[in-house]
Amino acid sequence: MKKCKPIVAKFGGSSMADAESVRQVIEIIKLNPDRRIIVVSAPGKNSNYPEKITDQLLSGNWAEVENRFLKEGQELGWRNVNACLKQAFLDFSYYFDSSDWRASRGEWLSAKMLADLIGAKFIDAADLIRINLDGSVNEASYELIRQAVDNFNGKIVIPGFYGLDTNGKIKTFPRGGSDITGAIIARSVNAKVYENWTDVDGVMTHDPRFHREARTLEKILVDHMIKMARDGAQVLHPDSLTPVMNTGIPVVVRNTFNLGSRGTVVITDQKVQN
Ligand code: ADP
Ligand code: ASP
Ligand code: MG
Repeated sequence: MKKCKPIVAKFGGSSMADAESVRQVIEIIKLNPDRRIIVVSAPGKNSNYPEKITDQLLSGNWAEVENRFLKEGQELGWRNVNACLKQAFLDFSYYFDSSDWRASRGEWLSAKMLADLIGAKFIDAADLIRINLDGSVNEASYELIRQAVDNFNGKIVIPGFYGLDTNGKIKTFPRGGSDITGAIIARSVNAKVYENWTDVDGVMTHDPRFHREARTLEKILVDHMIKMARDGAQVLHPDSLTPVMNTGIPVVVRNTFNLGSRGTVVITDQKVQN
């Protein structure tokens, strides 16, 4: 039987920020069985939490990180929360001087939690993503991902934002880099679509935080999107379009909190553009 192409769905920090938003993420995953490969960010900011977990980790605020996961875990009925918190920081004395390692723990915990809650397989990004010392994606990642994912038909949850460098140490992408992880995974598995779930209706003409006149675009060409992202439109990381460029895999930016909106399609195939 021919295998259906999976949807790769990436949920950003705003979608993972608290128990209520994670419940919404779980609903979205359930709505379409093709959403088989899930990439997550660490819990980010929302009206309840003024700080991102990644910033708390980078400033060494362990107690706050633990308390936030304990609270979220308890509200969601995540039984393994204590064991996972312990495991997340197990290598602390070995890696304590690495800010990349510290920062990566938010995505690791977020993915562990979601995988447990939906009964999915957790695959560590350290086993899939290789990052060159200059920060670019090492081509070996694509084959590693294919090998890990190809013969598995169930749901998989993968932490965004980090991988291993060529010396075998944890290395992160730039801030906002879970978008890049999602794109690398989407390309490797030849996804039907790369969905990027966030807290606004899609890519907008302006940053809606500062421009009341901002309106959502139905579609946007990849070159235009890259330019907007480089000019500061944080909704997609500028480096997240390169892996899916000319693959024909559309990127769809959607709002976790407004399913009524169809989002924005980023057209990644230059042939379609001309
Ligand atoms: P996530 O937590 O999903 O990764 P981000 O905070 O990285 O979300 O990106 C979403 C935010 O990007 C929105 O809340 C919005 O304020 C901001 N943003 C800036 N420019 C734009 C734009 N042109 N279109 C949409 N959102 C934008
Ligand atoms: N958690 C990381 C950050 O805050 C990566 C991401 O959210 O994409 O930048
Ligand atoms: Mg983001």
